[in-house]
Amino acid sequence: MSRSTPPDDLPLQPETRLVTAGREPRFLHGFINPPIVRGSTVLYPTADDIRHDRGEFQYGRQGTPTTKALSDALATLEGPNCAGVALLPSGLAAISTALLAVLKHGDHLLVSDSVYQPTRRFCGGLLARYGIETSYYDPLIGSGIASLFKPNTRAVLIEAPGSQSFEMPDTPAIAAAAHAHGALVLNDNTWATPLYFRSFDKGVDVSIHAATKYIGGHSDIMFGAISANASAWPAIAEAVHLLGQCAGPDDVFLALRGLRTLAIRLAHHQRSALEMARWLEQRPEVLRVLHPALESDPGHAIWKRDFTGSSGLFSVVLKPVAEKAVDAFLDRLTLFGMGYSWGGYESLVIPFDCSGYRTATTWAPGGPTLRFHIGLEDVNDLKADLVRGFEALAAESGR
Ligand SMILES: *Cc1c(COP(=O)(O)O)cnc(C)c1O
Repeated sequence: MSRSTPPDDLPLQPETRLVTAGREPRFLHGFINPPIVRGSTVLYPTADDIRHDRGEFQYGRQGTPTTKALSDALATLEGPNCAGVALLPSGLAAISTALLAVLKHGDHLLVSDSVYQPTRRFCGGLLARYGIETSYYDPLIGSGIASLFKPNTRAVLIEAPGSQSFEMPDTPAIAAAAHAHGALVLNDNTWATPLYFRSFDKGVDVSIHAATKYIGGHSDIMFGAISANASAWPAIAEAVHLLGQCAGPDDVFLALRGLRTLAIRLAHHQRSALEMARWLEQRPEVLRVLHPALESDPGHAIWKRDFTGSSGLFSVVLKPVAEKAVDAFLDRLTLFGMGYSWGGYESLVIPFDCSGYRTATTWAPGGPTLRFHIGLEDVNDLKADLVRGFEALAAESGR
């Protein structure tokens, strides 16, 4: 009971913070983990308390001991420049809420051309209807983004790296240009998590997480989070409140449970994904591997400068082959499941094609593209699965 969360100024590594952050034994009779608090009404002890809204919790939607444990833990992980963390029912809700929070009718928004596709649909749909204009930039534009600012540009959205095509943007250069124009910088940090990319140290004002992925880590929740620095937090907090956004208590609990093991899971995803990526680079069927932590990747220098690690998601460009041969490859796999999302313990693969919706860049990789998520399985078992797939591809393409 006497041992509570270590103070923020104690020098501790992020791996240690993942274990200690957000723990409040005084709530818990000494238990390590918070209970799953389900609740709407919070009772106030006296009339004077309710008249002055006194007390740590006022209403279930605005926070519970369970949500406080998770948002405190995430805030600690984000570092000293994080002013607050909001919890949302999905990653997409985190993105749309953050954009609504920082923009208004008549504003202009700059978005990376490699952005998560539902984000693009939100910008072209709801935001456009509300009189907010979006234009797209080449993710590799760097400080050249300065020429795209209009007098009404209020925000820039980055995704580092793009979660299908893996272009690695120069976040500090983009952020410097944005701030020179008085625009806020938002970053979808789902791929790296706060453990491998410290958004607020790289010029980002609002860091967005699809916690459905690595923070949850077990493919069993939908969850999102928005972290913001002091310049953006008041707008984020207001929008989350006024839009009535809150996450379900079971998912909050599971996100916190996932967070505790994030460091060891990510380290394993990182190691296995790099090994698989290097192995795939050597395969005769493969034209190119898109993974910024590979020395051969054009984004490698930026990744090395700005990131402290890489995760389990990357893409592969195959040498030109008929679609039915790619499908034979995919259908032969047994360890790689086919489905959306990623960041769980299991390996996944999807075919994808960005060419139909890009507007600032042309997507012409030179062959069919597949995105892999490398899970926690044994890598030799995963390689053997892909070898069987490549045999099916060869048989189908008559090679
Ligand atoms: C999955 C994902 C999202 C959306 O998260 P959901 O929880 O599925 O709504 C947002 N951004 C990126 C990069 C993602 O991969």
